[in-house]
Amino acid sequence: MCKMNVKNNCIAFMTLGCKVNQYETGKLIGQFENAGFKIVPFDTEADIYVVNTCTVTNIADRKSRKMLHRAKRLNDKAVVVALGCMAEADANALKEDNSIDLVIGNSDKADAFNIIMKYIEALNENTDITATDKSCGSNSGIFREHTRAYIKVQDGCNQFCTYCRIPYVRGRLKSRSMHDVYDEACELAKKGYREIVITGIHLSSYGVDMTDCKSFIELRGKPLYELILKLSGIQGIDRIRLGSLEPRIITEEFAGSISKINKLCPHFHLSLQSGCDSTLSRMKRKYTTKEYNNAVDLLRKYYVMPAVTTDIIVGFPGETDEEFETSLRYAKTIGFSSMHVFKYSKRDGTVAAGMNGQINENIKNKRAAEMAEMADCLMKEYEKNFIGHNEECLVEEVIYIDGRRYYSGHNERYIKLVFECDTREDVFVNEIVSVVPQKIYDDGTMLCSYKKPC
Ligand code: SF4
Repeated sequence: MCKMNVKNNCIAFMTLGCKVNQYETGKLIGQFENAGFKIVPFDTEADIYVVNTCTVTNIADRKSRKMLHRAKRLNDKAVVVALGCMAEADANALKEDNSIDLVIGNSDKADAFNIIMKYIEALNENTDITATDKSCGSNSGIFREHTRAYIKVQDGCNQFCTYCRIPYVRGRLKSRSMHDVYDEACELAKKGYREIVITGIHLSSYGVDMTDCKSFIELRGKPLYELILKLSGIQGIDRIRLGSLEPRIITEEFAGSISKINKLCPHFHLSLQSGCDSTLSRMKRKYTTKEYNNAVDLLRKYYVMPAVTTDIIVGFPGETDEEFETSLRYAKTIGFSSMHVFKYSKRDGTVAAGMNGQINENIKNKRAAEMAEMADCLMKEYEKNFIGHNEECLVEEVIYIDGRRYYSGHNERYIKLVFECDTREDVFVNEIVSVVPQKIYDDGTMLCSYKKPC
């Protein structure tokens, strides 16, 4: 058992994986802040290190472990906590790891603050940590990202795609009440956040568990629409963005209704995973490429140049060269504004892990590079449409490029915009200003000229 030095009450956090994880870390940070802890960067000496782990791929597992080991190296007397998805999936292995003091899986995540506090108190009776969670569960789980805050509205997933461990490590669908989410969004508005991102593990299923329906298809996205509508009435919140959606939620009715909510950004992340129907079927994704097409067509019918972004997996078991080519061609036809390309990663306990036709790493690397190259071209093609036109930029921070100061932010379509900042003050941070994109940098950031405040 480690003997910790708690005199500074310093705690450091590291989050891996999805926005839901980021949100949950934010909530924990708030609880420790309320209890009088000092939050310090992860690479400095702290009394407690919390790593909110991810297990979505092998790489995520490896990174989670690496961070846990790094924490122990930074201070071998600190309490190192493994939290979240990997802690749930590989609890036994992590408990045997000498670098890790406490393993808290997803089932206990909501109570992580109290578990950690009790552990510390038991470790050191003379500890000066006597604080309890003063937040009483109402603490806003703000994931601080400059001017944008994330709100988790549901957890868990009932879909069981064959490659994914999430339903096993996060359990079945659980939605938060609209009232609860609304209160949190009001709190965020009071704190000055102008943009909120509605997020969840399977956001399209929001509200299904609060009705007698078996699937979100029956509900046609109604609870999610009602939630967005309710949040759009909050003064101070100027932009609402949606997290990842399943294409089947985009019906004529849903697209038509949400398009009337002005604050909702025309940016839709529709998880594709593969552009080939036979691969999709082995993945047990429940849509076809034709249905996906329909969803994109509907978005393009109701929005001008919506940003359609996606995730895509290459090298899924049994993916032949032809299937990969089909997927590549399909993605090109859709014309995504941004794509996250993943190599398939074998996860123990999933159906896909036991499938024949596992693809070798070299082929996966080659396919990932080809897909990423195409994604880069598509992004730049999309962005060219905005050159010379007025764009509204929500300014997030001041950055330096080649030693010069620039304001940096995003437009509603989530294109990163920068424009030169000729004052020493950060006067535009958290303001929405009108800019005109002039040029696209290699990473897709657009260099703009400043026009005026909006
Ligand atoms: S929809 Fe599929 S990929 Fe997404 S969390 Fe659920 S099981 Fe995993």
